[in-house]
Amino acid sequence: MPFTHHPTFVTISVIRVNPWTLYSTSTRDAYFCTMVDYLVVGLGLAGISFCEKLEAEGKSFRVISDNSQQASLVAGGLYNPVILKRFTMAWKAKEQLEKAMPFYQGLERKLNVKLDEKIPVLRKFASIEEQNTWFEAADKPGLDYFLSTNIIKNENPSIDAPFGFGEVKHTGRIHTNTLIASYGEYLEQNGLLQKETFDFSCSEAFNDHISYKSIKAKQIVFATGYGLKNSPFFNYLPLNGTKGELLTIKAPDYKETRVVKSSVFTIPLGDDLYLVGATYKWKDKTNMPTEDAKNELLEKLKTFLQCDFEIVNHVAGIRPTVVDRRPLVGQHPEHKNMYVLNGFGSRGVMIAPYASEQLFDYIETGNELDSEINIDRFTKKYYSN
Ligand SMILES: Cc1cc2nc3c(=O)[nH]c(=O)nc-3n(C[C@H](O)[C@H](O)[C@H](O)COP(=O)(O)OP(=O)(O)OC[C@H]3O[C@@H](n4cnc5c(N)ncnc54)[C@H](O)[C@@H]3O)c2cc1C
Repeated sequence: MPFTHHPTFVTISVIRVNPWTLYSTSTRDAYFCTMVDYLVVGLGLAGISFCEKLEAEGKSFRVISDNSQQASLVAGGLYNPVILKRFTMAWKAKEQLEKAMPFYQGLERKLNVKLDEKIPVLRKFASIEEQNTWFEAADKPGLDYFLSTNIIKNENPSIDAPFGFGEVKHTGRIHTNTLIASYGEYLEQNGLLQKETFDFSCSEAFNDHISYKSIKAKQIVFATGYGLKNSPFFNYLPLNGTKGELLTIKAPDYKETRVVKSSVFTIPLGDDLYLVGATYKWKDKTNMPTEDAKNELLEKLKTFLQCDFEIVNHVAGIRPTVVDRRPLVGQHPEHKNMYVLNGFGSRGVMIAPYASEQLFDYIETGNELDSEINIDRFTKKYYSN
């Protein structure tokens, strides 16, 4: 394994450490170190879902997170199991939704905040052919639960939709920014969160634990979203990153209470505000909103929204997207107490609770990971770099 993979993180095999060092380290640690089961790096949807699993299972943990990545903060937060381009089910969507719903309800009770808003999604039809394709899809087992067989006539004078809409049921929106803020507060109140950038040069990997500054943890889980690119351990994984931008508009005449999907989504926020998005860009990896994306969103929006509006906000973030469009979950090929939880792409709301449970069960009970998400599918890449 070439040294370049982990230039700052040293694995110390116990037999190579001289006894004096071992003794003095443990004496110092007895005074200054906190020993926990897990250190979690990153507090987006992935980190939160994993912490929840840890807490539910009685594991001790600490979290280190900064604000370098914004995906979970800016996300539209939609959960919708249907791919609206092709009218097919998203990967393992039903299974994920079944885990996600009780998960967010549990968080609402624990944090005493409103997170889940049930909202139907209306897919605007572009033609009679599209209506027919929708009806065929709505007949299929699995999809029949989500796709309504009624065509919804457009009665909103602010929308141009002569062929009407198909309705996706059992969909909604998680207020992800409220979740991140209130979960962060919860952790801080309990002394479990350090707001800082994980400094790889302050960490060491031992056979049976990881040390980071004053923390010793049996396992470390990196849930850093697109920040994985800066990890000397996991940057061999093919995480592409797709920039997404969203506008918030104020449109007092729009009067729409449902999510509308045309060439872009509009998502009602209340008080005449709507999210409009999102863009997909592969080159720019910054969190800076751009004029180009704004213009693209406005152009698409104006193809169906016919009332006046003003832009009141514009945000951007990087979706942690993977070459094969499956999450990145599992154990580092060499450092056995180091794990990754990442690659949720554009569906973090639904995937996070499912993938976290998979990872936890894998570490603690030895359950096999779903082979589609296991990072061992890229192990060859690690050794060939
Ligand atoms: C515009 C946009 C719209 C979206 N809309 C939806 C949607 O409607 N529905 C949906 O399901 N998904 C949506 N997504 C996708 C969703 O946001 C992601 O799948 C999800 O947020 C990824 O979560 P994560 O925790 O893996 O990563 P992140 O949210 O990026 O969180 C990673 C965390 O780790 C921290 N971190 C990174 N590196 C370090 C480090 N070295 N030290 C300390 N901390 C670090 C980051 O600052 C961040 O807090 C959208 C994404 C975008 C950009």
